[in-house]
Amino acid sequence: MSHRLVWAEEELQSLKEKGLFNQIRTISSPQGAWLVVDGKKVLNFCSNNYLGLANHPKMVAAVKGIVDKYGVGPGAVRSIAGTMDVHLELEDRLAKFKGVEACISFQSGFSANLATIPCLVGKEDGILSDELNHASIIDGCRLSGATIIRFNHADAEDLEKKIIENKENYRRLLTITDGVFSMDGDLAPLDKIYEVTSKHDVMLMVDDAHGEGVVGKGGRGIVDHFGLHGKVDIEVGTMSKAFGVMGGMVAGNAKLIEWIRQRGRPFIFSSALTPADVAACLTAVDLLEESTELVDRLWKNGNYFKAEMKKLGFDTGLSQTPITPVMLGDANLAKDFSKELFNEGVFAMALGFPTVPIGKARIRVMISATHSKNDLDKGLQAFERVGRKLKVI
Ligand SMILES: *Cc1c(COP(=O)(O)O)cnc(C)c1O
Repeated sequence: MSHRLVWAEEELQSLKEKGLFNQIRTISSPQGAWLVVDGKKVLNFCSNNYLGLANHPKMVAAVKGIVDKYGVGPGAVRSIAGTMDVHLELEDRLAKFKGVEACISFQSGFSANLATIPCLVGKEDGILSDELNHASIIDGCRLSGATIIRFNHADAEDLEKKIIENKENYRRLLTITDGVFSMDGDLAPLDKIYEVTSKHDVMLMVDDAHGEGVVGKGGRGIVDHFGLHGKVDIEVGTMSKAFGVMGGMVAGNAKLIEWIRQRGRPFIFSSALTPADVAACLTAVDLLEESTELVDRLWKNGNYFKAEMKKLGFDTGLSQTPITPVMLGDANLAKDFSKELFNEGVFAMALGFPTVPIGKARIRVMISATHSKNDLDKGLQAFERVGRKLKVI
């Protein structure tokens, strides 16, 4: 290896020594309650496929249909070469589903944040950001050039204190919070946050990536959960989790959405979702609007699993959603636990720094509507055996 690249080897070695090297496993089956991982059939406790839509027969059929009609690629950036009508149809359907004036779609939730935040604020402005916000929010904030002011996690009182301290120093202020915090499964206190931001006339944005299709009536998201329609200025979401596909969305006030369409850099400098993605996302909206059955089953499964884990003596943290963190603390313990679970036929990944703070490593169990009670019981038995073996319970 040439001398100028030796640093890369040293960095990788250092990650390995700290137990922070991420060994990515290979999946050779469709998404579902069970997966083939590294050649072995295992119970899937890892994916964000909350409702089982990633391999739903109606989604697959819609994709096959649209590929025959529209082909596989969008051809170019929408603002230059024209947008396909299906992208507009999806945006219209998403706006109606979310109960907002307008919506714009992106290639991913990550790029939706990179597009949106720099459109809302610039160098003269300040952003109040929950200290546990997702990496894509943090990157979007940095790109905007605005000053980033962190407030204590899910703490509306601290938010108000920081708004008062900073109000006079900036042209505009924007508050940003995750809706569902994916590492802990807790909810932002959006009602209290809205009280504070509206009182001080500060813009409010929520990133509802893990709430879309999960919380609120029939999965309409965290704004619906708190009954804040028309009050939260802008909602970012993803179609890569409960929707089971790929893509980001930004929903809210029509003027703001039009501004993002004119100026959002990932919109004007990067090609759109493929027609296949769009057809699948449209079908996800159909399925969510048709019935709450999948969302209801997801919650029933999540509540059962969390209650049983607590009975076994595990610490499942602060979760208010089907996301179930199993708090272990040490990163190497979490890795060993995950390995033992895999030997027991359960695929549940350990999360360590930088995904979660140092000393707060955990296994995160992602419950899905596709799990049967029998699946959940198998998972619980494996957790009990490994927990005893590693003296966690
Ligand atoms: C997963 C996630 C994203 C990224 O979404 P993708 O569509 O996978 O790019 C953005 N924000 C939050 C809060 C997320 O959890």
